[in-house]
Amino acid sequence: MNPRQLQTLARKHGTPLVVIDHAVIRRNYAAFRKHFPKVQAYYAVKANAEPAIIRTLFQAGASFDVASLPEFMLVYENIRKLPARERQQFIWDKIIYANPTKPRQTLEALNRYKPLVTFDNLTELRKIRHYAPDAGVVLRLRVPNTGSVVELSSKFGCEASEAVDLLVAAADLGLVAEGVSFHVGSQCCNFENYVQSLNLAAAVMAEARSRGQPMKILDIGGGFPAPYHRDVPPIELLARKINAEIDRLFPRDVEIIAEPGRYMVANAAMSVASVIGKARRDGKPCYYIDDSVYHTFSGIIFDHCKYPLKAFRKGPQEICAVFGQTCDGLDVLSLSEELPELELDDLVYAENIGAYSNASATWFNGFPPARVLHVNVAPAARR
Ligand SMILES: *Cc1c(COP(=O)(O)O)cnc(C)c1O
Repeated sequence: MNPRQLQTLARKHGTPLVVIDHAVIRRNYAAFRKHFPKVQAYYAVKANAEPAIIRTLFQAGASFDVASLPEFMLVYENIRKLPARERQQFIWDKIIYANPTKPRQTLEALNRYKPLVTFDNLTELRKIRHYAPDAGVVLRLRVPNTGSVVELSSKFGCEASEAVDLLVAAADLGLVAEGVSFHVGSQCCNFENYVQSLNLAAAVMAEARSRGQPMKILDIGGGFPAPYHRDVPPIELLARKINAEIDRLFPRDVEIIAEPGRYMVANAAMSVASVIGKARRDGKPCYYIDDSVYHTFSGIIFDHCKYPLKAFRKGPQEICAVFGQTCDGLDVLSLSEELPELELDDLVYAENIGAYSNASATWFNGFPPARVLHVNVAPAARR
């Protein structure tokens, strides 16, 4: 999709608007398959849970990583349509519940589906044993998140030193310990995190095997970086490193899965908003737009992400501030954006805003989340 097409859609449908190009999502999925031929992609639904995205990726052959009962059911809607005898096999092939801590009501509700779930401590393991005894379990390891934009290792994962004992404990409780998982942190541009994590996982799995635990699944998590700007190293480079380590460290019969979220959707969406107010403060032009950090731009707060704003109007650029529509002082999109002088009702747009954006939009101040449009533009139309 190009900016002209976005402008046409904004004129037709009004603003604020998020436009998601499913041709780009399919292209990202195909690229992931090509670069990681031995890895099945379980799309992390939390990055963008639009049902249309789930359907597109399901049709393309993806599986899914969910983190709540509603996310599980969203994906299960698609599995429900399969013939009965294919369904059970499909649950594990198609869904991993990868939130290590689960409310007991969720476990009770999930048990009838015999789900595959992750855990990282003994309390959780006992809870699973009690409320979802038919679940398969995957242990989440704590791994280095050095340099990743979103850090996860202080909240999730067991220490390597306790990992094998936890896998054996799972078996002792009568659960099936399927394997191990990790997450190197989101938007991970330090590829050594993956290399170290793969080595750690391989050591844990080898020792668990020597203690009688058949380790069938290796889950290498998410973190695959989206190409927000030119400094992001290419996925080809990461693939070369990961594939070489996989070949070197793991037996051929280990099933390898990944949970890319951001990589699949970040560059598939653009958002467009209108200028609704204009002021000059301390000599600096300030624009107010009809979207906000509580809405499509929530990633500025929750995802530590920046979305450069662009205008359709031409003219000499000037440093300005851009504020959201809400009445909160936190609602600042940027204090130093370069834009031409804008007038009321002019449009501004952002690219690469498909992940952790509309997914975390709220109704704060009574402003509804932006309308989401789904389009299919030929991949050739985009860089
Ligand atoms: C959020 C999350 C993901 C997706 O991470 P990305 O960095 O968006 O790829 C994958 N797995 C788990 C367990 C997560 O919590």
